[in-house]
Amino acid sequence: MNTKDQVAKGLMLPIMEAFYTIQGEGRFTGHPAYFIRLGGCDVGCVWCDVKESWEAGKWPVLSIEQIVKEGLNHPGRLVVITGGEPLMYDLGPLTKMLKEKGFTTNIETSGAHPFSGDFDWVCFSPKKFKKPHPSIYEQANELKVVVFHKSDFDFAEEHAALVNSSCEKRLQPEWSKAEKFTPIIIDYVKNHPTWNISLQTHKFMDIP
Ligand code: SF4
Repeated sequence: MNTKDQVAKGLMLPIMEAFYTIQGEGRFTGHPAYFIRLGGCDVGCVWCDVKESWEAGKWPVLSIEQIVKEGLNHPGRLVVITGGEPLMYDLGPLTKMLKEKGFTTNIETSGAHPFSGDFDWVCFSPKKFKKPHPSIYEQANELKVVVFHKSDFDFAEEHAALVNSSCEKRLQPEWSKAEKFTPIIIDYVKNHPTWNISLQTHKFMDIP
């Protein structure tokens, strides 16, 4: 099977970077985690802080065996699959292998492609720039909306109305607008207590 076919089956994946750090955002904030950042994204957020991830062809394509083997070099057994937009790929084979090796599997996704994979925690962060695929709403354990503009509160509520009833809801100020929006988010959450606040704590700690 050639590389293109193996990527199509999720047996090989383009890896922009993979590193062991502390999860800075959302439900697993503060937990040590191995991040696997897949190359490729067609969502196009204007404020994206990993624009270099967009072009999948720029990144080395590794077998899922290699990806998992590198993850096993670190003591933590929490893995976060992110991007780019990781659901551009079939994540079934990679997550199956990670779970067989004892990893807890998390994903950070915009939900813009059909859901795949076996995940213990699904962080769904919808973006205005590409509509989510309907398959994400039932899967989401956490809805994390990045607030960059005041219209993002309405956008957050639109998606909150679609996720399953156990989904945790968080608002996160976009880093460059945090000074302006953090106080507004604090007021919003106090008045809409089904929401929590997520901060990009890794940026305060100056870690990746
Ligand atoms: S979905 Fe993520 S990687 Fe893609 S453009 Fe938006 S912020 Fe960047």
